Amino acid sequence: MSGWSAANGFRLQARNGGSVSYTNRAELRLAFEKDSRTAKINGVNVAMSFPAAYDKGETLVAQLDLAKTIEPLVFKPAWQKKISTIVLDPGHGGKDTGNRVGFGFFGHSEKTYTLLLAQELQKQLQAAGFNVILTRAKDAFVELPLRPDIANRKNADLFVSLHFNATQVGKADVNGPETYCITPVGASSSNAEGKGANYGATPANTVEIKSLLLAYQVQRSLVKNLGVEDRSVRRARFAVLRDCEMPAILVESGYMTHPVEGKKIFDSTYRKQTAAAIVKGILAYQKLTAPPSAPTTSLTNKVSTVRKPR
Ligand SMILES: [Zn+2]
Repeated sequence: MSGWSAANGFRLQARNGGSVSYTNRAELRLAFEKDSRTAKINGVNVAMSFPAAYDKGETLVAQLDLAKTIEPLVFKPAWQKKISTIVLDPGHGGKDTGNRVGFGFFGHSEKTYTLLLAQELQKQLQAAGFNVILTRAKDAFVELPLRPDIANRKNADLFVSLHFNATQVGKADVNGPETYCITPVGASSSNAEGKGANYGATPANTVEIKSLLLAYQVQRSLVKNLGVEDRSVRRARFAVLRDCEMPAILVESGYMTHPVEGKKIFDSTYRKQTAAAIVKGILAYQKLTAPPSAPTTSLTNKVSTVRKPR
């Protein structure tokens, strides 16, 4: 890290054994922890593919992580694109209930709350001027491959899949959002421990840097605006992310199994706040990647040069 930081305008801010932080002139902060796959970028947790190592006073971070995770989030985006159409994907539906908490009449199915959140988010995004398409507008089963397919066919600019999490161990402790984007080629996913592990390329890898920036901005906004535990930006080759040709993320917006967070997830006021936080994240992403607005004078010039058809 000392070589990388010197070459990229960062300086050592603090070191305490295996914990180290760097900062640059823009006061951007980067922190690493020995043996941890989590980097803190401006206070937001981001999963790396390999743990940071510490040897003889030096912190070592894998080249793959510098190139595919750190640099895309600390340097100015090298692309500009206006967002018009956003596809929202309410997770599960129909026979696929998703996670379930409680029993019978008093039980809660994930599919119910992903749809409610998508509908609220649709309302708020439309109010912000976006064209919004849902992969399902009712309690219906939609095959996984069909979901990115809809986004590709509609030429969507962004794809946002909505889910709620559950855990079987540590229900009282595990809470907070996790935002996923596609795993870099050659790396293992945050959620893969051998099972179904896959290292290959997917169509989503062609826009993975954009997806990472979108995931970062949405995770940051959720943590900041909801005041919740930061469960990190993570990487996964989820079926709904793999085939997306546009920036795509999957938001696990909290844990249904947590006694406090679970209740909030089922509450409409909190749902509005969650949707508002996701909108702010999308707007932050758009602000960073928006093309400069076209000056009207050059438009007028262009009109005068348009040739009439013969
Ligand atoms: Zn789910």
